[in-house]
Amino acid sequence: MIEVKDLHKSFGKLHVLKGINFTAEQGEVVVIIGPSGMGKSTFLRCLNCIEFPEQGSIEIDGVILNVQKKNEKQIRALRQKSSMVFQNYNVFKNKTVLQNVMLPMTSVQKMKKEEAKEKALKYLEQVELLDKVDEYPSRLSGGQQQRVGIARAMAVNPKVILLDEPTSSLDPELVSGIQDILRNLANEHRRTMIIVTHEIKFAREIADRIIFMDEGRIVEEGTPEELFLNPKNERTRKFLEKIV
Ligand code: ADP
Ligand code: MG
Repeated sequence: MIEVKDLHKSFGKLHVLKGINFTAEQGEVVVIIGPSGMGKSTFLRCLNCIEFPEQGSIEIDGVILNVQKKNEKQIRALRQKSSMVFQNYNVFKNKTVLQNVMLPMTSVQKMKKEEAKEKALKYLEQVELLDKVDEYPSRLSGGQQQRVGIARAMAVNPKVILLDEPTSSLDPELVSGIQDILRNLANEHRRTMIIVTHEIKFAREIADRIIFMDEGRIVEEGTPEELFLNPKNERTRKFLEKIV
């Protein structure tokens, strides 16, 4: 369902992604781990067309972006295949909870307001925020703002949800609530998800597959058992020693 071939991305002289090859199946949950500054966020941002690689190709659900000959139509089509949940929530401060979740549906998908509202309420119910629909983000906790971010990402019904350290800005007592929602998305709704996280226990529970990224490359991948209990690569082992 997702196929990435030989993806390269640089910022000026800094070569961040150095040939990423990656596939994921429909319904699969892939967790990416790795030291910071190694390109994990950049990779997710390329999948969502927030950044553009200078070499390689990205295919999601039949839409292919060929970097050398990309055009606006392809970009728009590919962008609609995924939605992103950000580390720092990225909610619009001047919009209510309901407006935040409705916005991508009415602006990007051109959905009618009534239909968008109905969908938004359905997803806000799933993340238990129905009592906050008319609040502004400044009156919500971090965990509640992240739940808005998750409802917003789900509401556009994307083929894949990309989550960039979704719990790392949260106070410890708020982490498990968000993790419960994500586990539910994975298990009951069979959502295809790619999650960058440093929470190893959570990663073991939710992931079908773990990928270890270092210095712009995928160094090792496997099931949670393979990767966490029996890492083959020396760099994976060193990284895990540091964080577990
Ligand atoms: P990770 O998510 O693994 O911590 P990132 O993908 O955020 O790593 O960043 C990889 C490298 O690319 C870092 O050195 C970072 O400073 C650099 N980088 C990321 N985004 C930009 C940008 N927009 N402009 C310049 N450098 C960037
Ligand atoms: Mg990052």
